[in-house]
Amino acid sequence: MQSITSLYGSMVFNDQTMKKRLSADVYDRYHQCLKEGSELSEADADVIANEMKEWAVELGATHYTHWFQPMTGITAEKHDSFIEPDGDSVIMKLSGKELIKGEADASSFPNGGLRSTFEARGYTAWDMSSYAFIKDGTLCIPTVFLSYGGESLDKKTPLLKSEELIEKQAKRLLHLLGKDVNSVITTVGAEQEYFLIDKQMYQKRKDLVYTGRTLFGNRPPKTQELDDHYFGVIKPRVLAFMKELNEECWKLGIPAKTQHNEVAPCQHELAPIYTLTNRACDQNQIVMELMKKIADKHDLVCLLHEKPFDGINGSGKHNNWSMSADGENLLSPKGSDEQFLLFLSAVLQAVDEYPELLRVAAASAGNDHRLGGHEAPPAVLSVFIGDDLEHRIQNFIYNKKKESSTNASLNVEVHSLPKFFQDTSDRNRTSPFAFTGNKFEFRMLGSSQSIACSNINLNTAVADVLCRFADQLEASSEDLSTAIRKVVQTSYEQHKRIIFNGDGYAKEWIDEAERRGLLNLPTTADTLPCYLNQKNIALFERHKIFTAAELRGRYEILLENYNNVNSIEAYTMLSIVRKQILPSVMEYTRFLSETISAKKAAIASIDTSCEEDLLIQLQDIYVRAYHKTKKLSDAMEESGKEDKQQEAYYFKEVVLPLMEDLRVDCDLLETFVAKEFWKFPTYGDILYYK
Ligand code: ADP
Ligand code: MG
Repeated sequence: MQSITSLYGSMVFNDQTMKKRLSADVYDRYHQCLKEGSELSEADADVIANEMKEWAVELGATHYTHWFQPMTGITAEKHDSFIEPDGDSVIMKLSGKELIKGEADASSFPNGGLRSTFEARGYTAWDMSSYAFIKDGTLCIPTVFLSYGGESLDKKTPLLKSEELIEKQAKRLLHLLGKDVNSVITTVGAEQEYFLIDKQMYQKRKDLVYTGRTLFGNRPPKTQELDDHYFGVIKPRVLAFMKELNEECWKLGIPAKTQHNEVAPCQHELAPIYTLTNRACDQNQIVMELMKKIADKHDLVCLLHEKPFDGINGSGKHNNWSMSADGENLLSPKGSDEQFLLFLSAVLQAVDEYPELLRVAAASAGNDHRLGGHEAPPAVLSVFIGDDLEHRIQNFIYNKKKESSTNASLNVEVHSLPKFFQDTSDRNRTSPFAFTGNKFEFRMLGSSQSIACSNINLNTAVADVLCRFADQLEASSEDLSTAIRKVVQTSYEQHKRIIFNGDGYAKEWIDEAERRGLLNLPTTADTLPCYLNQKNIALFERHKIFTAAELRGRYEILLENYNNVNSIEAYTMLSIVRKQILPSVMEYTRFLSETISAKKAAIASIDTSCEEDLLIQLQDIYVRAYHKTKKLSDAMEESGKEDKQQEAYYFKEVVLPLMEDLRVDCDLLETFVAKEFWKFPTYGDILYYK
């Protein structure tokens, strides 16, 4: 096997490769453009395109594609080969123009009413800050995706804008603190949870095939009660999958670092080392794609759904986020009180002022089944910072003398072990937004969701607060230290309600959160309209991240997705009940009836009361399930409302409760019907594969 160090990044046209392959002049001008955001000359673009193509062809590529992230939340690509006719033969070619700009017939991508149907053209444009890479013999050029009128139709454009915005505002604040830095970036490490199941089992479950989650099924006698899966020994079959996944990630310059079993059976996690947000976002999309593809090669299926199995843990994605100024982590507690507490306060205030924006980023039909469930954060937004840090803020504001180190030494009482210190913040696992040492960890995101939206919204909200902090400091006539203290004090006093260091899973917290007036939106149907709150539109327009029309477009796409997913699930449910569950009950009851008759025919006086009892019970549930199926079917006849928001409420209030109700009876039937009559694998069959 190739060494990991030589494997790493071998499929990426990264800085190192560019430096090696481009002339110093072109390389420097490329960096100049990147820094200034200016356009490459046509001649330089031609040179870079040609080198990129040469490099790709040497590595076996035959095609190239503009790779982009439409608002579906997944990635899109349309491949063109490099060939160009040359007499009777062909040459391999990629021009600067082809590298920089593409035209995509965008009519099939969701646009939320942004692109009128007569203007189907969309444009893709090279994102120079993200590296091109080779995937399955195709050179992928990361691009943004815009409408003919210049509106963004993707997730990358606003993310890049929000990065520039937060850089600008953070630099202003740092300048006031006497620091002039070259760059401020945000950094993200996205921990990805997923389930792996056997492909044969998957194919027998139409609910998994059509919806990605099970719509029926009882918990087997054992799932995660014994905590024997979390960090447990990894199955050889899964390990082989992980090995290949790591190698493919490394080839693409994705720093896959940590892998382990998660809490639920068949659940696992992959965490990469953090990088700049734009790249982390690209990489997370690729990781999800690789997981699916590689699982398939191992006769496994990777489930990225947030709640594939009811009653056991669902899968999330932890978005670890921080800001970095010329490599210095601005959320490191090692920074001066003034610097650290200003940036920390800005994040707290941003979450308190714009909680809907974080909630929206995590809103989806799938994630609704997860939030507030087993080991998932509740839908209430609060921030954990830990008592130590809260004391540090208070000490700073009220000018108290610093207490001696709060880092208590943990005495492990084993002499061969090193003495180590307790983290200043213990790892509160129950908080949706937790400060974990030197970064914030947003844990509401669902496993299948793109991390773009959460970071666009977080960057913009934090930048907005940083902007006001800088304005206040610039306008203040007091000395800098006093002015900073006042800014931190006002921010803390006005926004400390968002801080919650206790158990987020406790029921009492929900009541307390309500008393504090914190946002608690349990469902997507309720969350989505908040995206369009006046204050949120004003925020995005003020900072030129989204126009009101772009925001509305995004809202409509999310809404449509919610309605579509629920509709698909309801129809899948109906089909499975009618084609599989009710028929299996019919077969089993017939078997029972025949058994009773046969026994009676053999011995007239035989006691068949048990069989009869079972038959009657089954028939009762069968009848109930049959009528509930009809009710759900009737309800679906009424769906398809003109007003899509009303449709979403309809799904939430009418259809989903009917589905849940129907499931109860179907799951009960599963417990009665003999195994050989049941037409698809049960939770036990799926979760305990070899
Ligand atoms: P866990 O949450 O499982 O305890 P860690 O705290 O080790 O795991 O890290 C989780 C993720 O946070 C990793 O992807 C790591 O690279 C990322 N991370 C660490 N530091 C930063 C940072 N400054 N900015 C963004 N992400 C970070
Ligand atoms: Mg984590």
